[in-house]
Parts: sequence; C-alpha cells; structure tokens
Amino acid sequence: MTDKTGICYLVGAGPGDPGLLTLKGKECIEKADVVVYDYLSNPDFLRWAKPGAELIYAGKKSKDHAIPQGGINELLVDRTQKGLIVTRLKGGDPLVFGRGGEEAEELYDAGVKFEIVPGISSSIAGPAYAGIPVTHRDHCSQLTIFTGHERPDKDESSIDYKQIAHAPGTKVMLMGVERLGLITSSILEEGGDPDLPVGLVRWATTGQHETLTGTLSTIAELAEKRNFKAPAVCVFGTVVECREKLNWFEKRPLRGKRIVVTRAQHQASRFSRMLQDLGADVIEIPAIRIESAKGSDAIEFAECMASAHSYDWLIFTSPNAAERFFDAFFQVREDAREIGGCRIAAVGPATAAKIKEYHLGTDLIPQVHTAEGLADAFANEVGSIENTTMLWVRAKGASKTLSERLNKAQVILDEVIAYETVPEDSDPTGAVKRYETDGADMVTFTSASTVDNFLDLGLDIPETTAIASIGPVTSAAVDENGHPVAVEARESTLPSLIEAICDYFEQSHA
Ligand code: SAH
Repeated sequence: MTDKTGICYLVGAGPGDPGLLTLKGKECIEKADVVVYDYLSNPDFLRWAKPGAELIYAGKKSKDHAIPQGGINELLVDRTQKGLIVTRLKGGDPLVFGRGGEEAEELYDAGVKFEIVPGISSSIAGPAYAGIPVTHRDHCSQLTIFTGHERPDKDESSIDYKQIAHAPGTKVMLMGVERLGLITSSILEEGGDPDLPVGLVRWATTGQHETLTGTLSTIAELAEKRNFKAPAVCVFGTVVECREKLNWFEKRPLRGKRIVVTRAQHQASRFSRMLQDLGADVIEIPAIRIESAKGSDAIEFAECMASAHSYDWLIFTSPNAAERFFDAFFQVREDAREIGGCRIAAVGPATAAKIKEYHLGTDLIPQVHTAEGLADAFANEVGSIENTTMLWVRAKGASKTLSERLNKAQVILDEVIAYETVPEDSDPTGAVKRYETDGADMVTFTSASTVDNFLDLGLDIPETTAIASIGPVTSAAVDENGHPVAVEARESTLPSLIEAICDYFEQSHA
C-alpha cells in the first residue's frame, strides 16, 4: 500500500464507433495507470493509454472467459488499493447488462474509491445505427430491454416470456443470438405475433456492422442461414419498419470494406476517421514510428536553429519535418519575425498546412508533390536560384533526388535531419493479429517508408488485397517490393487518396 489514493473508474466504452465514447471516458483512459478492458470495448482506445500503462484483457466472449469475474473484481480492488488509477472499460454502458453494479459493490465493500462513467449502450445505439428508433410516437410508448442470456427451457430462467410476448412497445434483447430459435419459439408459444418485425444488428456501429431483418417467426432461421453470430442486438417491434427510411449508416460508400491504415500512430487517426466516416472497417497497423534525430544529427538539428533565419529558402518535404523544425525553433525563439526574410517551400499541401499552424505562409508548393516536383518548381517558377542559400529540413534516409537537382543548379544547400522513422513493432490493439486472421480488402500506404516497414513486419499482402498509394514515390516503393498498385491518389493528399479509394470500390469492386 502507498499513501496515494487510488481510484477505479467503471467506464462505458460505448458500442464500438470511437466517436461514441464520452469525453470523460477518454480522459479516464488517458490518465489511467491500469486499463482493464473487455471483448466488446474497442481495442483502438488502448492507444490513448499513457506509455507504460498496464493493459489487462479481461475477456469475455460467451465461452471464453479470459479472467473469471471473481478474478476481475480482485484485480480492480488490488490495483486501486495500491494507489493506482484504474480504468475498467466495458462495452456499451457499464450498468446495462455489464456487471458494473457488481464490480462497484466489490469496490465499495473493499473500501476503495470508484466512479461510474456511463456509456452509450448498444441497446439503443445498435438500433439507431440500423435506422431503428427504439421509441417512436407512431409505434410505441414503452421500451423493454432484456437479456437472452438465460436459456428459456431452464427452470431457473428468470425471464418471463409470457410477459415479453405481451408487453406492449419495443423489446430489445442483448446477448442470446446463439439461442434465438429457442427464444423466438418461447415468445411464439406464449402468444407473440408471428408477423412482428424483428431486426438483428451485429457489431453495431463498427466497421463490421451488419443488419438482418425478418419477423418473429422467420428471424431465427434467417440468422442461422446467414450465420449471423454474436455480438448482436435484437429488436422486436414495428419500429423495425422505420428502417426503410431511416437506414443511414449502411448506405455509406465504403461500407463493409476492411481497409488497413499504415501511417505512424500519431498521424493515423485523422485518416482512419475519414475512412470510418465513409463506413470502412479500419485496421490501424502503424508500420512506423517517428523518433527524434539522434547523435550528431540531433546536434546539427539543434544548431541549425541559430542560423535558420539567414537562409534564402527553407525547404520542408513532410509535415513531420515542419512540425519538428518549428517546435524546436520556437523553443529557442519567442518572436516569429526571428525567422527573418527567408522564403519557405513545402512539398505539398499537408506540409504547407502544418507550416500554417505556426502562422507562416509558404512561397512555393509544386504541382506534383514529390521531391522531383519540388526541384522542377524551383527550376521553373523561381527564376535564378544559383548561389542562393537553402536549408532542407528532412527525414533521415530521404531520397537524394532533391539535393542532387539543387546542387546541380548551383544552390548552396545545407541539409538537416529533423527526425527518423523506425519500424513500429508493438501491437497493443491486436490489429496485426486481426489482419493476419481476417485479411483486408485494401492496404493503404501514405509514404514510401511505411511500405518497407510494413512488409518488414512479415505481413503478406495477398493478390486479392488491393493496394492504395498516396502518390508516385510511394507507388514506386510498392512496385519495388513486387506488388501492384491498384489505386493512386491524383494529388498526393489524404482527401485525394480517399476519393480515389471510393472511386475504386464504386467502379469495379462493389
Ligand atoms: N453493457 C453493454 C452490454 C453488455 S452484454 C451495453 O450496454 O451495450 C453483451 C451484449 O451486448 C452482446 O451479447 C450484444 O447483445 C450486445 N452488444 C454489445 N456491443 C454490441 C455491438 N457493437 N453490436 C451489437 N451488439 C452489441
């Protein structure tokens, strides 16, 4: 025991869509020393945990209880008593069939501090994402949520199927898809309407979201035929018919497409989110990690801050380079005017946008967002560059094209290394495993360095998986590794890549 007071947060992780986690829930993950998560809480949230936080998987899929409930309770009490901040993440809402009540009681009995952070329950979010309003004034004025976990043919079942059969309004069942046949026949036996519309929504709100509709008398057979497995929410009621008009989520262009994002983790989320918003099932496998320059590179980088203002041009060939440079610059300088009169060149709009974050404009952006394109732009758009001084801020190992071209043009060129990319070898969210087991429709690459590093992880890209690339340099790296590029962005930007991906799936691969 330490004198620090620990606390355990019982947090609802929502139904799966990362946008449906509460702000408070996210804060609890960020500040946790220990995160205990279960099968239904989105594993991508673990990326928000601070480095070194203990991440514990607590199960559970129906038959696969990773840690029995007693063990989980002990764990929560033990870690909290040690003075740690413990965040217990549970799918949906922790108190809706989530055993959150039991865990809170254990914490209370042990005399440790706890707080409950509600989450969006799949019982309402699942239907909502399938276009089914659980209440609607034209349909019902009552909502019943029950569990199908208990076998209806067992004496000890506490579910009164007679009551379920006759309860007015919408009924939502969590768990129990595996025994849907037994449950629907129990309801039918008790006088349920065989034509009552029923909707099943599985992996609701996630990239694997799927819906199946039928009636009380047909749904079990349909589910069996379609191999429609847990986790699913089952909605009984005429509200299911509203889906015809209200089904918004399933109409998005990348729906059901499993797409791998290989960007470095700190950059991945924006791209992933754009894909997810279009309905894609995104697997984030960050192939690279951005690290500071090391050794003499680091010294040179720090030293260049003193003389940066004296160059005619500053050149940035990636947003990372711009970010690292200006962060370092403004650590030692307090006034933006100290950058002097130098002009600024950026390889593309994303780099220019990063520079703009520091309230600085960009004087040159090439039409083609490559080193070659930038060299062309200097040659064609800037007039004479002979004897001008330039500082190129770049990644370690960048291609020599730009320096060769500029040196040839008699530029007095200095280069500094702002960062290096190293292979990302950890897999905290199980994404690599998921890719290996389930495969993907598409793997995306947004820089040449991710290509080699992705393949270095030993991950295969089968022929059936299309490769999308952000631009010609990245495509060349894919090509060199013997893989064909199916999609290339017209402009080397994320929005352009997304457009090309949508076109690809729309045209020939729906
Ligand atoms: N506390 C959770 C429910 C836990 S019980 C909540 O409030 O949502 C587990 C059951 O929840 C699953 O068997 C399934 O019926 C349902 N469930 C949870 N997440 C789901 C999802 N994304 N899609 C469909 N059903 C889900």
